[in-house]
Amino acid sequence: MTTHKSLFRKLFGPEAEVRDRLYNITFAFGILMGITGAVTCVFIHSSAMASGIAAAMTVLVFCMWVLGYRHPKHRMAIIKIALVCLDFVVLPALYLSGGSIHSGISAYFALGIALSLLCFRGRNGTVFVTFQSLFYLFLYWLSWRFSDRLTSFPALFAGNHWFEHVAVGSNVLMVAVALSVLIKVVFSVLRQESHSVEEAIIDMTRLAEIDHLTGLSNRRAMYKAVKSEVSRAKRRGLPLSAILIDIDDFKLVNDEYGHTIGDEVLRELSAILTALCSEHMRAFRFGGEEFVVLLPGYDRELAEDLSEKIRMTVAGRKMSPHLPPDRRVTVSIGVAEYNGGTGEALIDTADHGMYIAKSRGKNQVYGITEEGSHAISPSDRN
Ligand code: GH3
Ligand code: MG
Ligand code: MG
Repeated sequence: MTTHKSLFRKLFGPEAEVRDRLYNITFAFGILMGITGAVTCVFIHSSAMASGIAAAMTVLVFCMWVLGYRHPKHRMAIIKIALVCLDFVVLPALYLSGGSIHSGISAYFALGIALSLLCFRGRNGTVFVTFQSLFYLFLYWLSWRFSDRLTSFPALFAGNHWFEHVAVGSNVLMVAVALSVLIKVVFSVLRQESHSVEEAIIDMTRLAEIDHLTGLSNRRAMYKAVKSEVSRAKRRGLPLSAILIDIDDFKLVNDEYGHTIGDEVLRELSAILTALCSEHMRAFRFGGEEFVVLLPGYDRELAEDLSEKIRMTVAGRKMSPHLPPDRRVTVSIGVAEYNGGTGEALIDTADHGMYIAKSRGKNQVYGITEEGSHAISPSDRN
């Protein structure tokens, strides 16, 4: 029992790839049709030859199934050939010989169309399915118009309504089961596809928020983060500070040593910020040679201390292996503590602090609150 169950799961269940499931369902449909045909021919029409043909067809469909497993590249072609044979040869033959309008075999038309819709896509698919539907309508009309000439049920069952009900009922039931398996597959495809689209969107958003030169999050991510940090600070009543770092005379670095070395300096500054940031802080490249660090839980004084550490580390370090040993790069830093306004206002205040630091001679830290009152920076205190 377990083996059968696991075989079923392997072929049609979630363990199988979606394409494999579709493939297996199409061939299971073919085999079902073949067996239905063989049984119909033996028990209803007592025709050994027709039964033999149906049995041979079942074996053929099974071989195609196996062939598709051996040559996965050609699976789609095999599935299409099998579907054309099933839709236009086997199904009509079964329908016309197996009781036509009395048998319920016409319910398989719906299954045939559903499978064609899945396997033949695009404009060709639409043409194929339209033709197929018209063909089935024609068959239906044909069997109704010439019902007296077509084999209905043999003498043994003729006029036996109970038998007709069983024939129609069992065929409709088989089709209903097959269709529900198909619908399940289609839904799982849709779910998988929407899942991968969601993942792609998440990846794209992540990429859109990363600065490729430094690997830090960019300005867009910074505004998102500052918004959520501000609402968190409001909710919890905890301090929040932001610092804005601008490299002094960076244009000169580029002009004197070239943009590649300028880029190395930007990367080195990013590495310093990442190294000095603890778990809850986040550094961002605000743009050009400007960086922002968000400091949840930091009041202005603590933020100024950290800023001073950053300033001194930069000033004391050779920021690129290709710069002359005595060439130092410095930064000016504006510090702002959140005081009930918006996230944008907090960054603007830090920016304002940075400009004051520049105007006071660069290579220094300047702390400022949102209202405009400012603190003496640690570098001034020394
Ligand atoms: P200040 O001290 O007033 O800040 O002077 P500054 O030269 O640093 O400022 P300015 O705004 O005049 O120049 C900024 C320079 O930063 C100009 C621009 O070429 C350079 N820059 C911006 N982005 C990059 C980058 O990605 N790589 C390199 N190498 N340079 C960049
Ligand atoms: Mg600048
Ligand atoms: Mg600058």
